Amino acid sequence: MKKQVLYDNHGRPINYLRLAVTDRCNLRCFYCMPEEGIKYLPKKQLLTFEEIERLIQVLASLGVSKIRLTGGEPFVRTDLMQLIRKIVSIEGVEQVHLTTNGILTAPHIHELKELGIASVNLSLDTLDRERFKTITRRDEFESTWSTLQQLIVSEIPVKINTVVMEGKNIDDLIPMVELTRTHNVSVRFIEEMPFNGEGNHYAKLTWTYKKILEWIKSEYPALEKLVDEPHATAYQYQVPGYRGKVGVIAAFSRTFCGTCNRIRVTAQGTLKTCLYDDGVLNTRDLMRGGASDEVLKENLIQAFSSRSRDGFEAESKRKNLVVSESMSTIGG
Ligand code: SAM
Ligand code: SF4
Repeated sequence: MKKQVLYDNHGRPINYLRLAVTDRCNLRCFYCMPEEGIKYLPKKQLLTFEEIERLIQVLASLGVSKIRLTGGEPFVRTDLMQLIRKIVSIEGVEQVHLTTNGILTAPHIHELKELGIASVNLSLDTLDRERFKTITRRDEFESTWSTLQQLIVSEIPVKINTVVMEGKNIDDLIPMVELTRTHNVSVRFIEEMPFNGEGNHYAKLTWTYKKILEWIKSEYPALEKLVDEPHATAYQYQVPGYRGKVGVIAAFSRTFCGTCNRIRVTAQGTLKTCLYDDGVLNTRDLMRGGASDEVLKENLIQAFSSRSRDGFEAESKRKNLVVSESMSTIGG
C-alpha cells in the first residue's frame, strides 16, 4: 500500500510529531521555567495514555511516521515505558525518539535499545557540576553525565542539546565540541528562546547562531560544513578527524521554517502547527467529546491546511501576544 503523506498549505510534508507526555519536571532550568516552577496542570487535564495512543494512531494513518516524546521531563510520567512499548508497535510509526534531561533515564536504556528507539536527545548545557547547578537549580550533574556515558555504550544515537546562554555557559562551548573528538555524539548548540515561563527575554539575542558559529570557528578554523539532513533544524558541522558532529540551531532566528515538517501536541492535547503559535486545535476535548476517528482526522487536516508560513507569522497571530509560556508545557 502506498504510504500517505499529508502536505500543509505551503507544500511542506507533515510527518513528524513532537508530543509532550507531561508538563512536570524534576529540574528548573532557568531558560525554561522560573525557580518556583510553573503551575502544573491538574493530572486529569493531561492526555491519558489511551488518548495519546489513539491520537498517534490517527496521525500515523495520515502519514506521521516519526514521533518524539518530550515534556516536561518524560520520565517523571509514571509508567512511561508502558506508553513507549505501545507507540513503537503502532502501524505507520517508523521512528520513536526521546528528549530527556537524563536524570531518571539510565535504568531504562537497555529496554529503550531493545525497543529500537531511534535516538535520544539529552539536554546538557555544561560539563561543570557547579554551573549545572546554577543553570538547572538542581545538583544532578552526575546523573545526567552517567546517562550520557551509558547511552554511548548502548550505541543508541545521542544528540546533546546545549542552550547557549550569555554569562552562563559560554566557557563550555569549546569543551562541549571536544566531546565529539572521541565520542560519536552530535552536540547541538541552541539559540535561547523566550519560552521561559516568565515573559522576559533579551531585547536582542547576543548568542545568535551566527555568533555561536563564529566562536567555534575561531577555535577550529578548519571546521567542516556537512550536508544537512532534509527538514533538519540544525546546521551540521564536524571538526576534521573528530568522531562526532556539531550542530547549531537557529531556534530564535527561525531560519529553518521553509522546510518544517513538525507538529507538536502539548501535554494537555493542544495541537501546535508551529512552536511559536499558541495552539490551533484542542484534540483532548474533541476526543473526550466523543469525536470519531474520522472527525478527528478532518479537524487535523483542517489545521494542517491553515498553517502559518513561518514562526514570525505564527507569533504575530497569537491570542496571547507575549511568548511567555514555559517550554515544559509546550514540549520542546
Ligand atoms: N525535559 C527534557 C529535556 O530537558 O531534555 C525535555 C523537555 S525540554 C523542554 C526540551 C528541550 O527544550 C531541551 O533540550 C531544552 O534545552 C530546550 N529548551 C527549553 N527551554 C528553552 C528555551 N527557552 N530556549 C531554547 N531551548 C529551550
Ligand atoms: Fe525540565 Fe527540560 Fe525544562 Fe529543563 S528544559 S526545566 S529539564 S523541561
